[in-house]
Amino acid sequence: SAKAGGRGNYCFYTPDMHVFATRRRELEIELRRALKSEEFEVHYQPQVAIGTHAVVGFEALARWYHPERGIIPPNEFISVCEEIGLIGAVGEFVLTRACRDAACWPDSVKIAVNLSALQFKSGTLPAVVAHALRVSGLDPRRLELEITESAMLDDTASVLKQLRDIKQLGVLISLDDFGTGYSSLSHIRNFPFDRVKIDQSFVRDLGTNSDSLAIVRAVTGLCGSLGILSTAEGVETLDQLNILVAEKCDSAQGYYFSRPVPFVETLPFVSRMHALHSQAA
Ligand code: C2E
Ligand code: MG
Ligand code: MG
Ligand code: MG
Repeated sequence: SAKAGGRGNYCFYTPDMHVFATRRRELEIELRRALKSEEFEVHYQPQVAIGTHAVVGFEALARWYHPERGIIPPNEFISVCEEIGLIGAVGEFVLTRACRDAACWPDSVKIAVNLSALQFKSGTLPAVVAHALRVSGLDPRRLELEITESAMLDDTASVLKQLRDIKQLGVLISLDDFGTGYSSLSHIRNFPFDRVKIDQSFVRDLGTNSDSLAIVRAVTGLCGSLGILSTAEGVETLDQLNILVAEKCDSAQGYYFSRPVPFVETLPFVSRMHALHSQAA
């Protein structure tokens, strides 16, 4: 047995843990197979301009189409990919697919792709991004890369250098999930962000929690003063949207507009929102 820490908390090796370890090993083997047999897919969630509801972009979100278990969400496999050294390959697959798909959309529609902190480790990320742009023919100004603050914690100099090189290509950089984790104002000052994405945990209780409202107001105000765009994540209700309009957030993303959808549904969504918008105008 091992002492797990805390007062009198002893952690014994149990049959459950054995099941967990076995399951985990199976998952690793399955993930390597999934990459080879192209079981990963990319879904897209629209981001709309707050005033007009015009679609300004989509966020690419990885999905695993498991042959027996159906569609598996990223929270169940991205961290395992990171631990077993597969995140570089999976990340490059998502980036390349997303750039290729985005090249089919109108020029006014951007694509946002999530990066893992570990994708900065090898120092080759700028070359990987340049390659994805080249093979897809996508205008670099239509690509945004989302990173969380965890990417800025170690080897800051190397991460900063790679971000600058990526920005040199014309690509935009967003700070994802802002307000969670290590949120530090020095990150906003020292890193070249074009956009801050306000975490959904603050958006969720905007109508009911005055602290959340104060935080959203502070972030949109800060972004406004610094010339950084702001996007609210996890917008589910009209009430939340109305508050974000009042707080001068730039764009919104969430189930209120649409869940993440397969590529085939993206262009019809852009047209539908455009038709609604021109009717209203
Ligand atoms: P994220 O980048 O913060 O993406 C937003 C997540 O919130 C997505 O979950 C999205 O489906 C969900 N969401 C959007 N609107 C709403 C809403 O109105 N209500 C609620 N409750 N949720 C909403 P998803 O697709 O499960 O992705 C989870 C996380 O997995 C992402 O969070 C991102 O950190 C990570 N992820 C996804 N794809 C990739 C990828 O290709 N590479 C890496 N490194 N991470 C990825
Ligand atoms: Mg994201
Ligand atoms: Mg986020
Ligand atoms: Mg998140």
